[in-house]
Amino acid sequence: MSDDRFSALLLEEKDGKVTAAVQSLSADRLPAGDVTVRVAASTLNYKDGMILKGLGRLVRAYPHVPGIDFAGVVEHSDCAEFKPGDQVVLTGWRVGEVHWGGYSQKARVKGDWLVKLPAGLTAERAMAIGTAGFTAMLAVQSLEAHGLTPDRAGEVLVTGAAGGVGSVAVAVLAHLGYRVAASTGRPAEHDYLRGLGAAEIVERGELAQAPGRPLLAERWAGCVDAVGGTTLASVLAGMRYGGAVAACGLAGGAELATTVVPFLLRGVNLLGIDSVMCPKPARLTAWARLARDLPMDKLDAMTTRVALKDLPPYADRILAGQVRGRLVVDVNAV
Ligand code: NDP
Repeated sequence: MSDDRFSALLLEEKDGKVTAAVQSLSADRLPAGDVTVRVAASTLNYKDGMILKGLGRLVRAYPHVPGIDFAGVVEHSDCAEFKPGDQVVLTGWRVGEVHWGGYSQKARVKGDWLVKLPAGLTAERAMAIGTAGFTAMLAVQSLEAHGLTPDRAGEVLVTGAAGGVGSVAVAVLAHLGYRVAASTGRPAEHDYLRGLGAAEIVERGELAQAPGRPLLAERWAGCVDAVGGTTLASVLAGMRYGGAVAACGLAGGAELATTVVPFLLRGVNLLGIDSVMCPKPARLTAWARLARDLPMDKLDAMTTRVALKDLPPYADRILAGQVRGRLVVDVNAV
């Protein structure tokens, strides 16, 4: 491959059907931006699964290179903050949705969107964290900002625990000294979750039914919720007085049928987590904390790897809730 050419997973759309294939492209196809990055790794997140399948109208223009996050080395920079050779990581800013993303050996983006790789992380581990792990840390920070401490009574619940956001949330919270309850629909992953630090496993079905009453017995001190829907409604009804729920995702549905009673009678806080447009200072804090508060042996235990050429079938698996932990995409295995 000449220096100008690179391989990428290109999505094309015909008659409403989206197809994906690894193709060799020239650098003049890259979108506008002031920093060009030689990508080392990307990952598969739930949103990538939707984009690979052409769901949710997340991508409006084809051909398109997906991949909502990546880590790599700066190759060319017109941005004062970065110079060639700098190791960088990117999540969010709708890269991989409206701007070509990380399923590619090269990416061109705005320097403002990049974060320097924090000390202690390799590009591969930064991507093992990726968008899902970054979101989990934003959720933990938000719960802490609303008063959660390890000595508060009650457990901290993580829903969708065996998935990407959930796995990182369990490992970080357990490392910080919280007593973590992990909710999963996968009995085969109970030992995995205990290995990440979960003190208790909650069957997904226990939370999946609408709560039926505005309030249930007080149970959770806090919650990182990746599931939404009736699960989130059940969690809100079962919060302890003054507890907070960080709502990250909707793997179980976007509707939320609840009442105002948990907010009025228990002072519950419902906190929205957005990793996409999150401002840079908060990004830097979250990445620094991920390097500090996420044990690397736990991160390695939740990570599997896939070659870029083998990635497309995993879209169905992540949308069906069948991917465990984090899936790192080796963009150089084409
Ligand atoms: P994963 O697919 O890795 O994890 C989702 C988990 O949710 C699954 O592993 C499964 O966990 C559980 N689950 C799946 N389907 C259902 C269902 N029908 N009912 C109940 N539980 C279900 O996805 P991610 O962790 O990458 O993302 C999780 C959610 O967070 C997604 O909705 C995603 O879009 C969102 N997200 C939001 C971000 C933000 O900025 N707010 C950023 C990143 C992700 P188990 O098998 O353990 O039950």
